Amino acid sequence: MSRIAYVNGQYVRQSEAAVHVEDRGFQFADGVYEVCEVRHGMIVDLTRHLNRLDRSLRELSMAQPMSRAALTFVIREVLRRNRVRNGIFYLQVTRGAARRDHYFPADGTPPTITITAKSTDPAVSAKKYANGIKVITVPENRWDRVDIKTVGLLPNVLAKQQAKETGAQDAIFVDRKGIVMEGASSNVWIVTPDGELLTRPAEHGILKGITRTTLIDVAEKLALKVVEREFRVDEMMAAREVFFTSATGICVPIVEVDGKPIANGHPGTVSGSIRDAFFDIAEKTAI
Ligand code: PMP
Repeated sequence: MSRIAYVNGQYVRQSEAAVHVEDRGFQFADGVYEVCEVRHGMIVDLTRHLNRLDRSLRELSMAQPMSRAALTFVIREVLRRNRVRNGIFYLQVTRGAARRDHYFPADGTPPTITITAKSTDPAVSAKKYANGIKVITVPENRWDRVDIKTVGLLPNVLAKQQAKETGAQDAIFVDRKGIVMEGASSNVWIVTPDGELLTRPAEHGILKGITRTTLIDVAEKLALKVVEREFRVDEMMAAREVFFTSATGICVPIVEVDGKPIANGHPGTVSGSIRDAFFDIAEKTAI
């Protein structure tokens, strides 16, 4: 079955899907995106993801491509046409196509919208949950508006590639003062020796992950104490557990940082119980 993509009003075969050569997303990374998980035929946390999309567009004075009702319809249609039961959809909006010029294009230039979807193998995630992952730390080198979910991800790409080349799977950005920022595509959490769940505030300096927000709801239901404050690398190294949250991985244990084990070097129980409860508590929208 060939995959189907939605591009500016049309459902097209993905192998033939294309955007304009002068699209501003392509030339300037002048675009924003969302990735949302689909599990057992349900879209997870759609409202929060679309709220964040609205915010990203607003922060960059970018036009809404369509109403929320229409967008929801198209997302579901793309998932249906690709027969996704477990997987993700990827949605991208750019400032449109226009003759290359740094200034915004003329008012009324239609935004470009593309939506793709793919199935993922739950066994791959299960393996990550069972074994945990290894990460490296890298110096924070991103601009200070990473709270906007733009497609300008070059530092994230380079960090992940560096991780791969050193035998790890992912990377964590750390600022000059040694404060843990976030992963290259996820938020970072630790469980302190006192059993508190710690994550840094998300008002600035990181992307406010949707999974992070929902995890706070989950922790409340499980009577776990969540503290939002900054923490340093040494505090992370001394943690009982370290884990990532993101829509694609939900809650992934980190068992090694820069070649050193976290606790006994095995995934912890807190991240596991949060993951088990997550899907029940998150918002679910049927395809
Ligand atoms: N931080 C960054 C840099 C990310 O790319 C992501 C994943 N989109 C996240 C955090 C986690 O966000 P979410 O839980 O909404 O997927």
